[in-house]
Amino acid sequence: MGFRTLDDVDVKSRRVLLRVDLNVPIIDGKVTDTTRIKRVASTIEELSWKGAKVILLAHFGRPKGKVSVEHSLKKIIGTMKRVLGCSVYFARDCIGDEAQGAVAAMKDGDVLLFENTRFYAGEEQNDLEFARALAVNGDIYVNDAFSAAHRAHASTEGLARLLPAYVGRLMQAELEALKKGLGDPVRPVVAIIGGAKVSTKIEVLNNLIGKVDALVIGGGMANTFLAADGLNVGKSLCEHDLADAARAIMAKARSEKCTIILPIDAIVAYHFRANVPHQHYGIDAIPADGMILDVGGQSIECINGAIDGAATVVWNGPLGAFELYPFDQGTVQVAKRAAERTREGRLVSIAGGGDTVAALNCAGLAEDFTYLSTAGGAFLEWMEGKPLPGVQILEK
Ligand code: AMP
Repeated sequence: MGFRTLDDVDVKSRRVLLRVDLNVPIIDGKVTDTTRIKRVASTIEELSWKGAKVILLAHFGRPKGKVSVEHSLKKIIGTMKRVLGCSVYFARDCIGDEAQGAVAAMKDGDVLLFENTRFYAGEEQNDLEFARALAVNGDIYVNDAFSAAHRAHASTEGLARLLPAYVGRLMQAELEALKKGLGDPVRPVVAIIGGAKVSTKIEVLNNLIGKVDALVIGGGMANTFLAADGLNVGKSLCEHDLADAARAIMAKARSEKCTIILPIDAIVAYHFRANVPHQHYGIDAIPADGMILDVGGQSIECINGAIDGAATVVWNGPLGAFELYPFDQGTVQVAKRAAERTREGRLVSIAGGGDTVAALNCAGLAEDFTYLSTAGGAFLEWMEGKPLPGVQILEK
């Protein structure tokens, strides 16, 4: 399925409603990470340079349909100006007289940020009247917020029904990368799924089994599979009630000829803290009072062997409790191998999700992956194989 991009439209002197993700972290009133603003900068710059009137639409946090100072986008204006290197005007409302007045005052190339769309309940309800009130300020709608595309909200889906709609450059890059990952990948494809719990990723695992050649399961969620296989996992994080679900996933993998790779050894500690004493054990010898906090060296070798044999890797979730040194080592060593293979041009590597991004950033490897998606929920729903309403509506 194709998408209309900014190559398909003349934006000169047109009012462009550009949906972006500006959910940047703020501590003590200061933006602590500008990644999201930087990532959307190229679309804003391109539109401005081409003479569009660029009107930014975004939500911020969860104000639940009410105006709240805490959730105002006004506090990021200074950072936006600094990162974009241009003036950014602000309208204290996203609809009504205030918004229309601010748009009427715009010159070609100007950039204007509207106040939080979620100050109106109609945003999350995808209310047609609210979407119409947004649409009066634009001639064209461009969506550059893949991370919000799993939600059918007025600014992510409703507007595309009312105005000629296009994908922005960031969304375009994301969709192209995801296509390389699971849509139309070069085989063999290896998926690496880690993280805390099986319960949050059952649909991801089920979807991947039908699509990938091998599935590496690591992190706390691997313990549920090991226990379901009759192994003792001691005091490790484990969802014993999901043993049947884990066995069903393994049976499905066997029937679909998808190889499942589980840890064969582990790093075990007795407290869930950084820098605590820890030992290496084979997976069939975990002490009854121990906790598996990372995959062991033999497992790392095995996973890296799978990466060496892969043409495409799709990754979500850390392989251990990566926030606690030294239990980040499994994640870091595997990430290093994927990064190395990618740099050598032998691997397409797509990773995504909050913790995965954090782990790759900590390891200094974020830039080495083919694509790193900062979208949390949308990336997971894509991995689950669900259609994303904000993407679907943009398909030609
Ligand atoms: P998720 O949000 O499901 O991707 O899970 C990420 C979290 O899983 C991180 O906070 C990790 O610390 C945690 N995690 C990964 N492996 C383990 C493990 N073996 N035991 C406990 N927590 C883990």
